[in-house]
Amino acid sequence: MKGSGKILLASLLSVTLGGFSAIAAGQQQFISIGTGGVTGVYYPTGGAICRLVNKNRKEHGIRCSAESTGGSIYNINTIRTGELEFGVAQSDWQYHAYNGTSKFEDQGPFKDLRAVFSVHPEPVTVIASDSSGIKQLTDAKGKRLNIGNPGSGTRGTWEVIEGALGWSRSDLKLAAEMKSAETGQAVCDGKIDAYFWLVGHPSALTQESLATCDAHLVDVKGPAIDKLVKDNSFYRKAKIPAGMYNNEGDIETFGVAATFVSSASVPDNVVYTVVKAVFENFDDFRKLHPAFGNLTEKEMISDAISAPLHPGAAKYYKERGWM
Ligand code: GLU
Repeated sequence: MKGSGKILLASLLSVTLGGFSAIAAGQQQFISIGTGGVTGVYYPTGGAICRLVNKNRKEHGIRCSAESTGGSIYNINTIRTGELEFGVAQSDWQYHAYNGTSKFEDQGPFKDLRAVFSVHPEPVTVIASDSSGIKQLTDAKGKRLNIGNPGSGTRGTWEVIEGALGWSRSDLKLAAEMKSAETGQAVCDGKIDAYFWLVGHPSALTQESLATCDAHLVDVKGPAIDKLVKDNSFYRKAKIPAGMYNNEGDIETFGVAATFVSSASVPDNVVYTVVKAVFENFDDFRKLHPAFGNLTEKEMISDAISAPLHPGAAKYYKERGWM
């Protein structure tokens, strides 16, 4: 249901039900945040934001809910149709959606896409079974690899990497399209050799796979990756630090950032209320997920942002003297 439709429905209910409490309910505004699979980091990110918004919902009348979805590209497309007010999306897909490039070329630029803030880093992460013989990403040639469900940012970025490596789909023995939540079990059961995704660390799924199956993280590096990072401002070299999971050394890779986005059609006061809830409770926010441990306000409002900032967010950042 479109955002304005939800607001209208709430008002209609207040008319039909009558009475004081129902009128108060009619003033409620519902907002939804599109996230990702339940074992990723987007879903708890949306949950953390909503938790802080809902804490004061009696004062501002906004009720927030986080929805599990297919991921970044689904979220951006669904914000575009007005069915979601907010979403979490990889910074590479924020860039391409706003500019109408790469996967968004056919649809054209989404000029109403608005950045709100950026969140945790998302390195390209490959988890391979020990029996697969995969020691770095390029060893996946001829193997069974999960490349992400359609609609995920993971899948979109796989397609970019595939092009950069000069591979076609037939270079994989199997290109599985499972949702992230299904991949851990599939690697443990030997149904696939490895899975690929872009995710914050630590993440529940990565932790579970590495703790419960004979599996390991692999490096994602080499000349093709160096060139991708050099040619695209939204990619940067990244590391999964030694000891984060069962890895003894640093895992060398590259990645993007998770960002929180909305649309110019979402009212300024709604976006203002959401960012205020996060930044006025920033210590609490950072404690809500271990991947948020290193976040700083300054980086969150300036890094990995390529669409214009939503005016409701900019208003709050200016009030705080951050802009
Ligand atoms: N970056 C992933 C995607 O857009 C989602 C990661 C997560 O669920 O935390 O597909």
